[in-house]
Amino acid sequence: MDDNARAPSELETLTLALLHSRGEVERLRERESLVSSLLGSVNVVLWAFDWQQQRVVYVSPAYESVFGRSAALLMSDYGEWLNSIYPDDMEFAAQSLASVLEVGAVEQREYRIIRGDGQIRWLSDKCFVSPRSTPEGQPLIVGIAEDITEKKQLQGELHRLATTDVLTGIHNRRHFFDSAALAFEQARGNAHPLAFLLFDIDDFKKINDSHGHQIGDRVLQRIAHCGAYVLRRDDLFGRIGGEEFAAIFPGCTAVQALQIAERLQREVQRLTFSADGRTFNVTISQGLTSLGPDDSLESLYVRADEAMYQAKHGGKNCIVQV
Ligand code: GH3
Ligand code: MG
Ligand code: MG
Repeated sequence: MDDNARAPSELETLTLALLHSRGEVERLRERESLVSSLLGSVNVVLWAFDWQQQRVVYVSPAYESVFGRSAALLMSDYGEWLNSIYPDDMEFAAQSLASVLEVGAVEQREYRIIRGDGQIRWLSDKCFVSPRSTPEGQPLIVGIAEDITEKKQLQGELHRLATTDVLTGIHNRRHFFDSAALAFEQARGNAHPLAFLLFDIDDFKKINDSHGHQIGDRVLQRIAHCGAYVLRRDDLFGRIGGEEFAAIFPGCTAVQALQIAERLQREVQRLTFSADGRTFNVTISQGLTSLGPDDSLESLYVRADEAMYQAKHGGKNCIVQV
């Protein structure tokens, strides 16, 4: 019989199969190393969590750079993940992970971590239940976590710029009225008292004219600081016009509001300014009103404005409450 025509022996078949599978293994290895180098070069952390065993079963290479912690430690002990969560965000992070399983939907959550070197960073973590379960048939939660600290800082800075009066650092007009609308709705909804105050610097034009615009600006800044100092933590305070300021006192009765306004009046009178070797003082006129049953935010504002103009026409440097 012709040697070339004979069927391959069992040994030959096995050898061929082995060589073929070695090629496969080689290809798989190449693919795996390609995937890991890709995962290592992007700054997102992919992870998989065996819910039943409470064990991290996979974490991509970026974990070590994003968390500044050892991946091996995390894989051997889930406590390492818990250690990395910023304490104030722990409850939220743990609950949102549990709710992925309950609700079965993609959960997009943001929380802070403490890196191995002590730095606090913000993470955005999108997680969901994998369609593939563990080999034991248990649910597997998978997620993609990204460091968004710089994005958060930028958002914070943009928010600050959009809501703050550049000269004085207190709320600008728009943000004051936006916040006032919320405080107003809350007071109406809970039948809580609320007071509205407007004040305007007396003869401010003369200050500018006598001492210059820069000194005028300094007066605005110090009066804003004085207001922020006198007002309580939950009060709202903003510069709503050139030399006009407004405040909302949530939960404050008319009597309490008047006490705050009187204190502000005294504190402003105590401020001393100096320019060109001379010193001068500044006064304000205040209009104060309280939330009534038929009020809107607009009607409160109009009433406080009328009260303030009465204070101006009554000789300035005083408070009118209506
Ligand atoms: P009254 O006692 O009746 O309130 O008189 P007044 O002079 O304070 O008020 P008036 O409305 O006549 O003048 C306000 C001045 O405030 C005019 C304007 O040039 C000045 N002003 C507005 N914004 C600024 C600012 O940002 N900086 C400075 N320095 N002055 C400003
Ligand atoms: Mg004025
Ligand atoms: Mg004015």
